[in-house]
Amino acid sequence: MAKKQFKAESKRLLGLMINSIYTHKEIFLRELISNASDAIDKLCYKALTDESVGMSRGDFFIKVTADEAERTITVEDNGIGMTAEELEKNLGVIASSGSLRFKQEMEADKKEESGIDIIGQFGVGFYSAFMIADRVRVESRAFGSDEANAWESDGEDGYTITPCDKQDVGTKITIFVKKDTEDENYSEFLDTYRLRGLVKKYSDYVRYPIRMNITKSRSVETDEVDENGKKKTKWESYTEEETVNSMVPIWQRSKAEASDEDCINFYKEKYYDTEDPVKLIRINAEGAVSYKALLFIPKKAPFNYYSRDYEAGLQLYANGVMIMDMCKDLLPECFRFVRGVVDSQDLSLNISREMLQHDRQLKTIETNIEKRVKSELKKLMDDEPETYAEFYKSFGLQLKYGLLADYGVRRELLKDLLMFYSSKEGKPVSLADYVKTMPEEQKFIYYACGDSITKLDKLPQAEPIRDKGYGILYLTEDADEFVMNMLGEYEGKQLKSVNSEDLGIESGEDKEETEKKEAENKELLDFVKDSLGGAVAAVKLSHKLKSSPVCLGTQGAISLEMERYFSTVPGSGEKVKAERVLELNGAHPVFAALSAAYGADKEKAKKYAKLLYFQSLLLSGASIDDPAEYAELVSELMV
Ligand code: ADP
Repeated sequence: MAKKQFKAESKRLLGLMINSIYTHKEIFLRELISNASDAIDKLCYKALTDESVGMSRGDFFIKVTADEAERTITVEDNGIGMTAEELEKNLGVIASSGSLRFKQEMEADKKEESGIDIIGQFGVGFYSAFMIADRVRVESRAFGSDEANAWESDGEDGYTITPCDKQDVGTKITIFVKKDTEDENYSEFLDTYRLRGLVKKYSDYVRYPIRMNITKSRSVETDEVDENGKKKTKWESYTEEETVNSMVPIWQRSKAEASDEDCINFYKEKYYDTEDPVKLIRINAEGAVSYKALLFIPKKAPFNYYSRDYEAGLQLYANGVMIMDMCKDLLPECFRFVRGVVDSQDLSLNISREMLQHDRQLKTIETNIEKRVKSELKKLMDDEPETYAEFYKSFGLQLKYGLLADYGVRRELLKDLLMFYSSKEGKPVSLADYVKTMPEEQKFIYYACGDSITKLDKLPQAEPIRDKGYGILYLTEDADEFVMNMLGEYEGKQLKSVNSEDLGIESGEDKEETEKKEAENKELLDFVKDSLGGAVAAVKLSHKLKSSPVCLGTQGAISLEMERYFSTVPGSGEKVKAERVLELNGAHPVFAALSAAYGADKEKAKKYAKLLYFQSLLLSGASIDDPAEYAELVSELMV
């Protein structure tokens, strides 16, 4: 039969991995055993509802054997098996093209070491066998199928799939171990004791028996008799099948039986993370619903976290049987970064996956998990602010999205977990911390939106707030302003944009003075508005400006940042427009110059008006539609 080629990308990735990715060759066994255990999970689950499986939990096993003479290792399971199509689909490609592209980008960035993460994030587990094999044969018979097939490959040159003889449902993987070289000793893996050690080290918690033929020795009587007339004994070796793993899953173990470090290692292996999680949460709940949970809050987001590819959910077990791999109903959307396992003896085993979605017990568990995750995150924020900051870099955006979702139903849950850059502190702070440092007379929590801290630090309209010594929260993420609108207030303090008409710090006299001056200059202000040909909805004199002659504000519900945000959302660009308001500083010499030009030379005054508008755009961080016109204006005024 003709060999099929691996998909081109697979081949590259395969080479990459075999040669450089996994530094520990020994993990191949863990990967194969974990696949076998997954396959058994699937058939075991099926057995609950399908009598034709004819097996119960105790019937399942994984068998590992080594044959030194043949130089082979086999890993065999009686799980769900694979059809020819599944062999092709599962073992013929190595990772999605998206992942390869990402890998290439990472390489381009020269982030070499990150290769390990990336590969790890796409179960290429099976292929790790090629680290020690020059050939791998996978014989499999799928449940419900009356034929078996063998997939075989040398890992480089493609693979074949041919019919084979296999009586029992399940999968048998044979690894043909490479010959030893000067640098590498592959034969060590043919040693049963070494393999048994690896099972203990990496797969002790697997919930099905992993059996091995262990050679032992015992003393037996011989026919010879010694001088005392007693039969002589001799040592003989014999082989016995033994279950080598303890089979108690880690989440069922007490703290004394499984240390935090054990749990963290379990997390790193299971979720392919090279970093320790920022929080490990162990729950042993008894009450309305009894369950055990082992949860992890990761430090960094997987690269696909904010894409559709990321799958959220917790693994759900009922009485030791895995009933769902990614159960979404156990986690609120805002905490979808949490990983882990929930195991409850109170869930009905016969429950169908669809019914699970409406299960009241699940709802109870979800509510508990939600509360617990929130309190753990809050604790982290208070006790280890630096670690929290790192977590927040990855998942802060998720918390904000979570707050905005469903019309803000979770804002009470999430508001304390948010952080924003504070101008006073020069670093991100929580809203609670901001409020703590407010001087007594400060009434509002101020914020300014823009695309960078440097620009926001110079925003003219914020000058009076800065002069007062009040902190301003600088919001640089798209979601931020929506979050502020959704929150409205924090601890009774209203959240206020520095663009607000009334900053709450002006004296009544200031306002009166400005209004008076505005009335006096009405004609000039109308002239400026007309000169700008509809670009602004209004032109006003501002009581907020101090050293700057001009700034750009808005009226109505839509801010400049929202307009900019919606302009990037396909289809909504035209509809969402901010009503711009040009605010002039009546006390500034520039205003005097404008006024003088208006009296003497209307054409010149018109140019001044445009220049001031352009300036206000630049200061607010917006761009100028017609930079050529701006350049020309400046040149004209210079000569
Ligand atoms: P992963 O396990 O992370 O999905 P692998 O490359 O290790 O990636 O395996 C690819 C797929 O091949 C698995 O998802 C599974 O569907 C299938 N597979 C691997 N080993 C077995 C097995 N022993 N029995 C049944 N299916 C298996």
